[in-house]
Amino acid sequence: MKSTMCRHPFLLYNPAVKFAVRMYYKALWSNRSSFVNLTDIAIENTNICNASCTMCAHKSMKRAKAIMPYEEYCKIIDIAIKEDITHLYLGQLGEPFADNGIVDKMDYAARCGMELYSITTNASLLDKETSERLLGYPWKSISFSVDGAKKDTYKSIRGLDYNVVENNILTFLRLRKKAKRFDLRVRMQMVVYDKNRHEVDDYFNTWKSRLVPGVDDIAFLHATNYAGLTDIEYTGNLDSKMLRIPCGRIWNFMIIVSVNGNIQLCCWDYEVDNEIGNVFKEGSLKALWNNSRMKHFRQLHINGDFDKIPLCKNCNANYLAKPYFELRPV
Ligand code: SF4
Repeated sequence: MKSTMCRHPFLLYNPAVKFAVRMYYKALWSNRSSFVNLTDIAIENTNICNASCTMCAHKSMKRAKAIMPYEEYCKIIDIAIKEDITHLYLGQLGEPFADNGIVDKMDYAARCGMELYSITTNASLLDKETSERLLGYPWKSISFSVDGAKKDTYKSIRGLDYNVVENNILTFLRLRKKAKRFDLRVRMQMVVYDKNRHEVDDYFNTWKSRLVPGVDDIAFLHATNYAGLTDIEYTGNLDSKMLRIPCGRIWNFMIIVSVNGNIQLCCWDYEVDNEIGNVFKEGSLKALWNNSRMKHFRQLHINGDFDKIPLCKNCNANYLAKPYFELRPV
């Protein structure tokens, strides 16, 4: 597979290049450390999942599984709107449609003026009625996670029924066509590793014929090691001699609120144990994202002291030249 990032050895290993790049990122992020102006929010409406994916951290997760109560979700949306954080992503480490109240939650966000950016689902619970209702809201994109082109491969990876999933996605695509919602991009995505690597082309050709050219795309992702917290093997090619840079995820413009209101450091923080704070106690998302704890984490990254944050120590997400995934337009 082709990488979306440069893997030239000169860039990856040359000490002078590495020094210059390190200085560049240090200056870039130092300038942006005092206040990060959030625009995006991801809300984990539930951390329950109906799948049992072999390459996901969900099976290792120890925190309590729950569905975020509607009233609490609304409180978060109200705070976001008040602070001008208007781009909404639904879901985190769970299947968003395992929450029966998800459509009401979409509805509230839309009524409050949030821009509905993106939702990721395994599609197994996306029945016709839910698809119709979802298409009634101005979502910009939906990603379907399907990790295999063949029924048996898929089942062995996700533990779900391929026929149900395929049927739900085809129904969704038919309904989208009927509603002429081509402003809503569909992404098919597959985590590629030993179990399914041989099905990549088959997968691409099958889904390409069902998607809309110029609108949709297909993404092939590497399996991640979830910051070294799981025994899942990262499947991209990087090594310890490559340059690690301050991680954009702790500067970027999206805050992640977990199911009980605690703030995650990044999406790899699946136990949410970095003590950043709780939105219901703090009453402000921007204050949390710019509190002393976050500033401390950012400074450690600027200094290159990744090892001083247990979560970041063994993470492979902030290597400069990590080939992350291949995105193929259809
Ligand atoms: S280095 Fe890894 S664990 Fe640390 S913030 Fe970035 S993605 Fe998260």
